[in-house]
Amino acid sequence: MVYENVVTKIYESLKQETGKGRVAQYIPALSKIDPNQYSISVCDLEGGTFSIGDTDKRFTIQSISKVFTLAMASKHLGDKLWDSVGREPSGTSFNSLIQLEQERGIPRNPFINAGALVVTDKLMSLYNKPKKAILEFVRENCGDQDIYYNNEVAKSELEFSYRNVALANFMKSFGTVEHNIETIIDIYCNQCSISMNTLTLAKSFLFLANGGVNPATEQRVVKSRTAKRMNALMLTCGLYNESGDFAYRVGLPGKSGVGGGIVAVLPGKLSIAVWSPELNVNGNSYRGIDTLEQFTTEIGISVF
Ligand code: GLU
Repeated sequence: MVYENVVTKIYESLKQETGKGRVAQYIPALSKIDPNQYSISVCDLEGGTFSIGDTDKRFTIQSISKVFTLAMASKHLGDKLWDSVGREPSGTSFNSLIQLEQERGIPRNPFINAGALVVTDKLMSLYNKPKKAILEFVRENCGDQDIYYNNEVAKSELEFSYRNVALANFMKSFGTVEHNIETIIDIYCNQCSISMNTLTLAKSFLFLANGGVNPATEQRVVKSRTAKRMNALMLTCGLYNESGDFAYRVGLPGKSGVGGGIVAVLPGKLSIAVWSPELNVNGNSYRGIDTLEQFTTEIGISVF
């Protein structure tokens, strides 16, 4: 694969770059993860793939799941979704409560926790078995039926989901969400616990590099304009209050999760996933961002 040399070089140069952050502490099951693990996978639209590092290890995708649920909800609801959630960067942390009150219970975007909870609430109206539907959607997109929820992480997050429960209750008081809070939180914690390796993660995002069509199955996942819009949202909101800096340094639409994964898309060409569990103060994998910055610098291509 044409990116093999570049990715190997980046991997070697950043392999020792650890100790500058901490693995997520607020979900007990995540705090036990070995911080030194590191893997990178690239998939292109011609079917080429290249992976290096701890590629057989799975990690929980956490907030990256928000892209899958957004795709599912957008497919059914189209622009109606935007009555309940905005499309602006939040400039606040992923689980912030403060903006919600000022903005009358409408979250700034679907990639902060409040916005994702709204999307999960919508999926509960659209699917009889939303948990099963989410898993099937992810499996279909990466072509791997062996993708599961990590029950231990889901349970651990559920036990400590005080903030997410607060966000959901607060939105319910404004009528932004309609279903039972406990069930919304249960589905949300499970979607965050979906476990993938960098290869399956990169594969599952290829439809966003390919105008909404899964290149492996040639099935349309979302409309091409939905794919464009989802990429725009990832570029502007995908890394919480570090989205501007990520766009500046990397120049690709991307989405991070507190499990240490980041996935990015180069429309018309490829997807790339990185996993390195130590996070910076914004809850993003700092080595993941460094990797992606070096990648677009070395290949000399970004969306700009
Ligand atoms: N499960 C995490 C939470 O709700 C997801 C946050 C993230 O990945 O940024 O707090």
